[in-house]
Amino acid sequence: MTITSALTRHLKKPELFSNLAGVPEGDLQSLPKFAVFDPATGDVLAELPDMGIPQVALAIDRAHAAQAQWAALTARQRSDLLWEWHRLILQHSEDLASILTAEMGKPFTEAKSEVAHAAAYLQWYAEEANRIYGETISAPSVDRRMIVIKQPVGVVGAITPWNFPASMIARKISPALAAGCAVVVKPAEQTPLVAGAMFALARMAGFPSGVLNLIYASEGASVGYELCTNPKVRKISFTGSTEVGRLLMRQCSDQIKRVSFELGGNAPFIVFDDADVDAAVDGALQAKFRNAGQTCVSANRLYVQSGVFTEFAEKFTARVGELRVGNGFDPGVSIGPLIDTRALAKMQSHIADAIEKGAVVRCGGEPVSADGTFFQPTVITEVTRDMRLAQEETFGPLAPIIRFEDADQVVAEANDTIYGLAAYFYASNLKRVWHVAEALEYGMVGINTGRMSSEAAPFGGMKQSGIGREGSRHGLEDYLEMKYLCMGGL
Ligand code: NAD
Repeated sequence: MTITSALTRHLKKPELFSNLAGVPEGDLQSLPKFAVFDPATGDVLAELPDMGIPQVALAIDRAHAAQAQWAALTARQRSDLLWEWHRLILQHSEDLASILTAEMGKPFTEAKSEVAHAAAYLQWYAEEANRIYGETISAPSVDRRMIVIKQPVGVVGAITPWNFPASMIARKISPALAAGCAVVVKPAEQTPLVAGAMFALARMAGFPSGVLNLIYASEGASVGYELCTNPKVRKISFTGSTEVGRLLMRQCSDQIKRVSFELGGNAPFIVFDDADVDAAVDGALQAKFRNAGQTCVSANRLYVQSGVFTEFAEKFTARVGELRVGNGFDPGVSIGPLIDTRALAKMQSHIADAIEKGAVVRCGGEPVSADGTFFQPTVITEVTRDMRLAQEETFGPLAPIIRFEDADQVVAEANDTIYGLAAYFYASNLKRVWHVAEALEYGMVGINTGRMSSEAAPFGGMKQSGIGREGSRHGLEDYLEMKYLCMGGL
């Protein structure tokens, strides 16, 4: 399978574009184009029409026109369409994974598992679509009946990041569609191709025209502004940086528009003296180096208690040294390129700042070559709290290890951040496990595991890491309005 053949099968047919957002084919042809690059080679993979505010407004109108009919279908009808889309995504998973690796850089095996994860969201919400329940309330007077019904919020605008371009889209769209909402989606400019391929499959699955709309754009600001300020859009669902989340929240405030945000993180990964050190090393490798560390739930700060510090640091550094960096299509590669030169520069500046303040590089520390965006997986010790890498999300393959003595103090330090997305810890003492799990101010806590994302569980953060949850039955609630019906005179 080649990336060219995968792209041709899914994206090179002009009629697919014209139906993604309702923009007439001729209009699309006349728009300026933007290029999508392979971060491993710098090759241009495709050139896409750069849609702006007029096209977004058109897509919103189209979604708005489709909204009532979509909401009026039975839950089973919506569910059947989600099942069909799920089936097609699995059937084309190799194509989707190769497009994903080409535009994003992650190793092909990780891309395949992301596509499977995306399909799992469709499956979950195909099932969950049939389980939307209201309630009856015992009325305080005999002549009344009180009932709560659930209805779709209406048209949803979704904006997604480049690091999980397939699963982030599925995680937003599938509960929205299950709830009865039409959607307008803007994928990240770096990774729009897998989104296009997924939408082409949705079209094959038979979703009614206008229910799913895809916007290709070279930047997010104008599309985001239109989605936030157009009154036909009732809700914004965004995954990306906290900085952009703040801006979108401000833009939504005039209309008190509903928002769901999955934002940045600064995950602590704590290894206590009573931990199984080998298991903690395995978990840390997963939590830190999956997707080359470009994951919102990436372990950003590794705290290791002094009794196991040396053993952990030595074993972990040895394993990191074995990780192979390269093109995601090459077998055996576990670390692909970083998404762009900005990401590479952030790695370099975090490392330089740490070294200047006294940190020691145990392995890695440099770009793989003078050109490209490949970076050596890096372990740093003698880390202190004033270093930038301990305060900010690095979003790259950099593992800073911080020694600690006191268990209570490490929890306070782990919580001392504006973020509250994911945290991890390894321990065996049951009393400690409960105490620490409850004390960590994070939306998700991995206990003796380095990986916890699942369509069955609520994904999301506290503090400035977000609002709302995605996945599980809770993810569906975010796309439903609650309406209270009071019947009197009985
Ligand atoms: P980003 O916020 O720059 O971009 C994300 C999306 O927002 C892209 O589609 C982009 O085009 C769009 N965008 C950018 N500026 C915009 C604006 N002014 N108005 C509207 N849309 C705009 O983030 P990124 O660099 O692509 O992704 C990395 C960030 O995303 C990290 O901070 C990471 O932690 C976070 N993230 C969070 C989760 C989560 O579930 N919490 C998951 C993945 C990534």
